[in-house]
Parts: sequence; C-alpha cells; structure tokens
Amino acid sequence: MPELPEVETVRHAMAMHLVGKRIENVRSSGLSLRATPAPSHLLSLRGCRFTGARRRAKFLLLDLSDGRVLLVHLGMTGNLLFREETQLHDHIVFELDDGPPLVYADPRRFGMVMVLNRSELSDCAHLSQLGVEPLGEQFDAAYLLRQCRGRVRPIKNLIMDARIVAGVGNIYASEALHRARIRPSTPAGRLGRGRIQRLVQAIRDVLNESIQAGGTTISDYQGHGGGGRFQQNLAVYGRAGANCLVCERPIESEVMAGRNTYFCRRCQR
Ligand SMILES: [Zn+2]
Repeated sequence: MPELPEVETVRHAMAMHLVGKRIENVRSSGLSLRATPAPSHLLSLRGCRFTGARRRAKFLLLDLSDGRVLLVHLGMTGNLLFREETQLHDHIVFELDDGPPLVYADPRRFGMVMVLNRSELSDCAHLSQLGVEPLGEQFDAAYLLRQCRGRVRPIKNLIMDARIVAGVGNIYASEALHRARIRPSTPAGRLGRGRIQRLVQAIRDVLNESIQAGGTTISDYQGHGGGGRFQQNLAVYGRAGANCLVCERPIESEVMAGRNTYFCRRCQR
C-alpha cells in the first residue's frame, strides 16, 4: 500500500514531469474506482493545463489552470505514471500536449480520482477531517503532548490516527517507536515531554529517510509498501524473531487495532 513517502515520491515526479503540460484528451476504462469522475467531468478537463502538484496526507492535489483540482488517492495499489501503451489495469489516461500520456493504473481499484472546484475542495470530507502533516511545522512536541494528555489509548494507535497526524502508516509507526525507544502499547497520556520530543523527531526522520530512499523520479517508484529502497533499512517492521539491530534481542510482534506491530521488549519501554 502506498504510504506517505511513496505518495510524496509521486508528487515530486508530477511536479517535475507533469506541471506545465496541457490535457488534450481523457480516456477511461469505464470501471469504477472508490471514486471516479463522470465521463462528462473527465472530458471537461480537455484544454486544462497542470499548474501545480501538492500533497495532503496521502492525497495528491494536481492543480489545473481553470482553478479546479484533480484529487487522487492511490488506495491499495494505485499509481500515476507516464507510458505510451495502455495496459490491463489502466483506468484513466490523460493524453498530454507533450510526451507520453499520464496513466492512473490500479489493479485493485481502491483508489480515488476526483475533479473538484475550489468550494468542493474546501468542503471535501476526505481532506477536512485530516490532522496536521507529520512533516509540517504544526507537528511538534507541544502539539503531540496536548493530543496525548489524559489519553489511555496506546501511543501507536494515536499516531496512526489521521485526525491527529495525517499519514503515519503502520510501517512508519513501528519504526519511529523503536527509534524513540517507546513500547507501542504505552498509554499515550503516560508519555512525558522528553519521550514525546524523541517520538516527533523519529517520525520525521523515518518519513524523510524513506522519501530520500524512494527516489526522485517516477521510474524509481515501485508501487509497494516500504518506501522503495527504505525497505532495506527497516529495523523492526516485518522482522519478528530476527535480532534487534540495537540490542540483539529477538523482535516481537503483536496485533494492535488489527495491525501487525513490531517492537523490541528491551529497547522499548
Ligand atoms: Zn533492542
């Protein structure tokens, strides 16, 4: 599943290779995604130029020259890429005035593609309920401390709650908690400023390192979890039974809120 670093990698590729290009035509497979624009809506994009590529949590916002936004969520298996020949799972194809078409491909079709005007964008429930960006300035120790105060909820579940901080997926939550030396099941309200400070830094670091490892062109995007080459750097995620890279005690796993969770009992308290 594409996580925040993969989405940021795609955003960067769109900023580099899509912005400035004009849509000549749009073709659709006719199969529905979690959200799909009506055919007439898609055709209304002809003549629009892409003017910007932004990201909010795991949503891509591709700005158009008429003020509308193409909002894309990659779901479980979605991808945006440039290619000439159409393949089986290509659902929306944007023919451009320059270079190969932009293709939205998605084998499992859990993704979303929407065309929104400014007021629809500001009313969009998918975006309005999102908490702060983990790499943004608002996400700091003071903010996370306020969110944790009085909460008995495990810290891992809290940092994965998109209404609090948007886009910290399961892999990165486990990795950040190991770096910050915090047991994932710790009640959030029990964490003091020092440990919260470490956790904020660890979340930023694992996401930034994964973005770095994800590469800077679309051809580097592999379309699977783990952030491209970051997969090789995972300290705990998916390593149950293997030795902790810090203390060599075997990594343990347990299911929390339905998600596999990995931790070291010695390093994380
Ligand atoms: Zn350890």
